[in-house]
Amino acid sequence: MALNRDPHVLVVGGSDSSGGAGIARDIETITAIGLRACVAVTAVTVQTHQSVTAIHHMQAGLVADQMRAALRANKVSAIKIGMLSTGRVIAAVAAVLSENSRIPAVLDPVLASSSGRALLEPGAIVVLKRDLMPLCRLVTPNLVELAVLTGSDLASDDDDALRQGRQLLTEGAQALLIKGGHAVGPRSTDILLSGGQELVRLDMPRLAGSMRGTGCMLASAIAAHLAGAKPLEDSVREGKRLVFEKLLQCVERDASPEA
Ligand code: PLP
Repeated sequence: MALNRDPHVLVVGGSDSSGGAGIARDIETITAIGLRACVAVTAVTVQTHQSVTAIHHMQAGLVADQMRAALRANKVSAIKIGMLSTGRVIAAVAAVLSENSRIPAVLDPVLASSSGRALLEPGAIVVLKRDLMPLCRLVTPNLVELAVLTGSDLASDDDDALRQGRQLLTEGAQALLIKGGHAVGPRSTDILLSGGQELVRLDMPRLAGSMRGTGCMLASAIAAHLAGAKPLEDSVREGKRLVFEKLLQCVERDASPEA
């Protein structure tokens, strides 16, 4: 078979041995939406749900080769990018994206695990912003990632988050989904910001439960909907709905008598 014509999302990211985050979560999400996934592994991590004990970085050339092979083998309709590990890997991923500029890419700018282990070397943030961010249809930072990307303190309120978001747009980002899930309050509000468009607030009730890999799931779901040629705002709404439903299942399971 020369080319698999089923629509695929190419997942570029790290493996997580616990299955809580990373490419296992991405593939699960993309297949649940009805698309197929192909992968370029950037790093192998040794993790439980409590800690990361080892990280093995892939060589940049190997990551680019995996991406090009996946693109040759399949009809890739969107690209989802997660853990990138090093500046060299970022530059290699950016090179492949520029050869395939018609395919929309969603970048989850993963900096650290929830247990606090760095998943991107600190010096690579400059390369991420300069070489990769402008090539992506959407970047999905949480408030901590937004602060690091803009060299600011953690946003203290909505206006502060918006100011940081607008800074990233002037620095070349096409569109941002600022995730407010780590803030406090009864509602969880995300903000979709794109150059020349009205900002959109996406508001959901805050659920009591927490779950690993929600950032991976959201970015993968958005990429899967973009692959189906849905507009950006609709893709983001669908992605948020899927993550909310997963979190709700988690809360209901934890509350059930057998839990
Ligand atoms: N490990 C890998 C390989 C990831 O890609 C990510 C997030 O994208 C994480 C860990 C962090 O996930 P969590 O915040 O659920 O620990």
